[in-house]
Amino acid sequence: MRLSKFFLPLLKETPKEAEIVSHRLMLRAGMVRQQSAGIYSWLPLGKIVLDKVCAIIHEEQKRAGANEILMPTIQPADLWRESGRYDDYGKEMLRIQDRHERDMLFGPTNEEMVTEIFRSYVRSYKDLPLNLYHIQWKFRDEVRPRFGVMRSREFLMKDAYSFDMNQEGARAAYHRMFVSYLRTFERMGLKAIPMRADTGPIGGDLSHEFIILADTGESQVFCDKAYLEMQAPDEGIDYWDEAAMAKIVKDFTTPYAATDEMHDESAYEAIGEKDRLSARGIEVGHIFYFGTKYSDPMNAKVQGPDGQEHTVHMGSYGIGPTRLVAAIIEAFHDEDGIKWPEPVAPFHVGLINMKPGDGACDEICEKLYKAIGASGRDVLYDDTDNRAGAKFATFDLIGVPWQVIAGPRSAAEGKVEIKNRADGSRDTVSVEEAINRFGAA
Ligand code: ATP
Ligand code: MG
Repeated sequence: MRLSKFFLPLLKETPKEAEIVSHRLMLRAGMVRQQSAGIYSWLPLGKIVLDKVCAIIHEEQKRAGANEILMPTIQPADLWRESGRYDDYGKEMLRIQDRHERDMLFGPTNEEMVTEIFRSYVRSYKDLPLNLYHIQWKFRDEVRPRFGVMRSREFLMKDAYSFDMNQEGARAAYHRMFVSYLRTFERMGLKAIPMRADTGPIGGDLSHEFIILADTGESQVFCDKAYLEMQAPDEGIDYWDEAAMAKIVKDFTTPYAATDEMHDESAYEAIGEKDRLSARGIEVGHIFYFGTKYSDPMNAKVQGPDGQEHTVHMGSYGIGPTRLVAAIIEAFHDEDGIKWPEPVAPFHVGLINMKPGDGACDEICEKLYKAIGASGRDVLYDDTDNRAGAKFATFDLIGVPWQVIAGPRSAAEGKVEIKNRADGSRDTVSVEEAINRFGAA
C-alpha cells in the first residue's frame, strides 16, 4: 500500500473525550470514528488490525474443532420468550418492532438462536460433540459506554456454543476451548490469565474469564506471578486427547487467580508475598458451562446410546475482538504511539522515502517495495511529500514494527536504515541486506 493512496485520517490534537491511552491512540491514528455514543466505524488502519485479530481467532477455533456459522444480528423476540430471557434481560437489550409490529431485537448474545438451530437438525448422540461459532456484531445498551471500543454498545463478539450428551462431554468441550483461548491470546502477544469466574446457580468450576493485566482495566484482580512465566501449548497439541487437555487446564488453573467477585483473601495470602500480584485487568474472553439452562426450556434433546432422550449440556465461549484491539494497544505503546506485536500489526514494514524525487531514494524504495510485497509481507510505503519529521512521527504513531528509511545520503551509498519500533534500535544496512531481511519468503 502506498501512503499517498491510503486513507489514514490522523488527528493532530489529542482528543479530549478519550480517557485512556488506547482510545486516544485509536482516534489519533485514524483507526476508528465514533458515530454516536458507544458506536464506531472502523477506518482502514483499524479494520486491517481487526481482521488480523479475527483471523487468529478463526484459526484457533477451527483447530479446536469449532464449526463456523453466521447467525443474524436481528432476532425474533419469540425465541427469547421460550427461554424466559426476553423479560429478564432488561434495558441492555435493544428492542425493535418490524412493519408487522412483530417484536424483534438486536442480539446481545446468541444462546437461544444457536439452540434453535441445534434442535432443528440434531437428533442423535452420534452427531456430538458439536461446537458452533461465529464472529458477529452484538448490541448491548450499556449504561455507561466508555473507553472507546473497550466498552461500546455495538461490538464484535466471537461466540461459540458447545453441545454434549452429558456433563462429562461438556467438560471435555470446555477444556478444548480453554486451551484454544490460551493459544489465541498468546499468538497476539498477550498474557491473558484465566481467572475463576462466577458460575451463577449452576455452580462448579467451569467458568473462567481471560484477563489481561493493565492499569486501565475495569476489574480488580488477584493472582500468582507464576502466570507471567507460563506459556501456551504449541500448535502440535491434540485437541481430541482428553487427558492431555485436562492436564493443560489443570496446570493453568492451579496457581491462584481470581477477579474481585470470586476473590478468596485467605487463599491469596497463602501465596508468598513476593509472588502475589494485585492489579487491574481487562476481560478479553469468558468461557462458561451452563448445563441445560437453555436446552431444557427450549427442548433440545438427542437420543442416547441407551435409546432414551437426553437434554443436551451446553457451554458458551466468548471473545471480544473489538475490545481486544484496544487491549493490545493498552499492553503495547509508548509516548510516541502504538507498538503492534508483529502477528496483529497492520503492516509489517513501513517504508519511508525521506526525499521523493531524489533518484537514489526513489529507486531504492521502489525496489524494496516490490521485493517486500512479493514476500507476502504487508508494507506501507510513504511516498508522500510530507516533512521527514512528520513521516517518522506518523510511523511511530501507527506502530508498524519495522521502519525502513531511505534518506538521500545513505541512499547514494546503496544503504538504508532499519528501525525497530518495539525497542527503538537502529541499524544501517545495504539494500541487498534489507531485501534479504524483508523481501525473502
Ligand atoms: P463485561 O463483564 O466486560 O461487561 P460480559 O461479562 O458482559 O463483559 P460476555 O457476555 O462474557 O461479557 O461477553 C464475551 C466477551 O465480549 C467479553 O469477554 C468481552 O471481551 C466482550 N465484550 C462484552 N461486552 C463488551 C462491550 N460492551 N464492548 C466491547 N466488548 C465487549
Ligand atoms: Mg463476562
